[in-house]
Parts: sequence; structure tokens; C-alpha cells
Amino acid sequence: GPTEQDPATVLVVEDDPSLCRALAATLKAPGFRPVTAASAAEGLRWFAHYAPDLVLLDLGLPDRDGLSVIADLRARGSTTPIVVLSARGGEMVKVQALDLGADDYVQKPFGVDELLARLRAGLRHGVQARGSAPVVTAGDLVVDLLLERHAPQPRTQGAPHVESITLETPAANRRQAASSVAS
Ligand code: CA
Repeated sequence: GPTEQDPATVLVVEDDPSLCRALAATLKAPGFRPVTAASAAEGLRWFAHYAPDLVLLDLGLPDRDGLSVIADLRARGSTTPIVVLSARGGEMVKVQALDLGADDYVQKPFGVDELLARLRAGLRHGVQARGSAPVVTAGDLVVDLLLERHAPQPRTQGAPHVESITLETPAANRRQAASSVAS
């Protein structure tokens, strides 16, 4: 299993190659380890292979609807956080995705900062469910996503110094918000 020093692995299932590359770069910058898949089948294969800490899932995939991927993963008993990233914006599809077991829903076009904040929130929920802590590394800091403590690593002289990293996100319960819309 992953040790405390492993970066959080995020499986990106997205068939748009340029968006996939941009997401990988966006995830690498703050210290995540992205793994990318261009179809549902490839996503499920990499899910089994890499046991990611979080899945970032497009719904409009070439081989299967992303909603069925959520259902599939949950039917297998996986509690890995799933954040949907989709251009579909209707309330019904959001409710469907959350009811099938997605943890969050980000609509395209999205802001990078908001996406990263939601991924951090998703990872914290996953950590609470699983009881082990992936970390995000940023410069000479290692951020424990469970304890949210900042542990400075030994630094060599002249190494760039990272002042701080912000992990706080709004505590809004989006699943609850989505459910109240449906009822
Ligand atoms: Ca797509």
C-alpha cells in the first residue's frame, strides 16, 4: 500500500487529449501524481492497476457513459472518491451522478483553483473513509491530507522556500445541497 510519503494519485478519465494534458499539468504542479485514461475501459484498467486516491471522471466518454463507470466502481465496493468533470450542466445529471456515488461534480468550463480545492476536499473524504493519508508535496513541504499538518522536510541550503500552502476549502456539503434540489 501507499506510504505516507507517496503523492496522491489522481486518475483522470477524459477523452479530450488537450484537456487531458492540461489537467495532468494542473495536477502535477501542486504535487499530485496524475494517471490519464482516454476511455472508460482504459480508466477501469488503470483504476485496477494504480489503485488511485481519487478519480476525476468525464461523463462523455467514447465507449461508455461516465455515469455507468461510477455505478461500476461503487458496485465493486470501491469507496475511492470520484469527482465528475463534465460539460453537462443540468440538475438531473448532477443528482444522478451524486446518487450513483460520485463525491462531487465540477462543470466545464472550470476554474483551476476551484477544481484543485474540490480534489483536496475529495481526498480528505477518501482519507477519512479509508483511514490512511496520502500527501501532497509542494517544494520542501509535505502536506498530510488527513491531519492537515505541514511537515517541513530537511532542505538543502539555497533550496527554494515555500512559504505556505492553503488546504482550507469551504465546508459546504454539496451532496446535501444537490439532494435538497431533488426532493
Ligand atoms: Ca468527453
